[in-house]
Amino acid sequence: MNERAAVLPVEDLRRDFPILDQRIHGKPLVYLDNGATTQKPLCVLDAVRRFYERDNANVHRGIHELSARATDLFEAARERCAKFISSASEEIIFTRGTTEGINLVAGSLARGPLRAGDTVLVTQMEHHSNMVPWQLLAEYHGVRVEWLPIHGQEGRIDRDELVRLLDREPKLFAFTHISNTLGTINPVADFCALAKERGVMTLVDAAQSAGHMRLDVKSLGCDFLVCSGHKMCAPTGTGFLYGRQELLDSLPPYHGGGEMIDSVDYSGSTYKLSPSRFEAGTPNIGGAIGLAAAVDYLEKTGMDAIAAYDHELGQQAYDAIVSESLAEVIGPAVGRAGLVTFHVPGLHAHDLVTYADSQGIALRGGHHCNQALMRKLGYTATVRASFYFYNTTQEVEALLVCLRKAKAYFGL
Ligand code: PMP
Repeated sequence: MNERAAVLPVEDLRRDFPILDQRIHGKPLVYLDNGATTQKPLCVLDAVRRFYERDNANVHRGIHELSARATDLFEAARERCAKFISSASEEIIFTRGTTEGINLVAGSLARGPLRAGDTVLVTQMEHHSNMVPWQLLAEYHGVRVEWLPIHGQEGRIDRDELVRLLDREPKLFAFTHISNTLGTINPVADFCALAKERGVMTLVDAAQSAGHMRLDVKSLGCDFLVCSGHKMCAPTGTGFLYGRQELLDSLPPYHGGGEMIDSVDYSGSTYKLSPSRFEAGTPNIGGAIGLAAAVDYLEKTGMDAIAAYDHELGQQAYDAIVSESLAEVIGPAVGRAGLVTFHVPGLHAHDLVTYADSQGIALRGGHHCNQALMRKLGYTATVRASFYFYNTTQEVEALLVCLRKAKAYFGL
């Protein structure tokens, strides 16, 4: 463990997550499926409960006391999220998560500046949610999707190749910050600067990074950034889209309905500016309040300490699996995020995950919403262990023990 990682009071932090303190099939739970969703601390559960217990009403509509309170809490949550990534409040649009954020941008761009024949550049390491929305635009709007290749089992991006593709002036470059399968941490500021020099808009998928490292959209230099609350200690069905203010205000709405309009008549409607323009209908008010509590909790814990700690756990797991030849591992050898994805030759991912479950260990097996990437790397399915700040080195060791035992159990 490096020095910064060692200062995280993990045993104290674990007490904030009662769910971790249980036995599964008679064994202590080892939760290593944080890439899919993280657990929620008591302060988040309390914030949501407090809202429904004392303050629940619809936002922005009522003149009565409860509605005023709910509106204040909801808008304070927006400010809290804005501060978390160093943006302005008006630049934060609450969504159901990353998937909705990307679809929102795709849908609005398709009604606005994106024309048939325009290109969207996407990397080959993207999650389905940063592939399919663009493919839908290709299918229904005549937009072209261009793929930035990745190379080798580490999934390397060649910067010169990126520059060549950006020189062809796509309208948008959409890419993940951290690959949910490879564990790659892409150099967002560098990629965004390259795109900006060429007048190309950028969208960053921060699903795997927002809860794991400090993000500052001004120094990243992106036009859009999306994340999911449930991957950063907040309830499911929450998240936000950041968009540069003038860009958001220039884009047409995504959903139509209540709260996003200035005026409506039978002859037509006019729309508010961001963020209201993109938040039609009653939002997930309790969820946004829970998300703000999660962001408070993460910052109190320390984003830099979290990053150092869970990246270190990922590296430990990677190094041990490789040095003991326990499995084939994909993704970069160093500088990786807090997850490790692997394949044990002769053992189907689902069999290994089922075996791990019998040992109390929660892993993920399958294509991880990266079917195209899996195929490119020559796998139908792999197993992923993904870490968070409440995991321990003992749990990394439990994973290794489990892998050794599984191989013996399956006669490999
Ligand atoms: N992008 C990445 C990199 C992800 O890991 C995920 C979730 N696995 C998503 C997008 C989609 O997030 P959500 O399902 O929360 O919308």
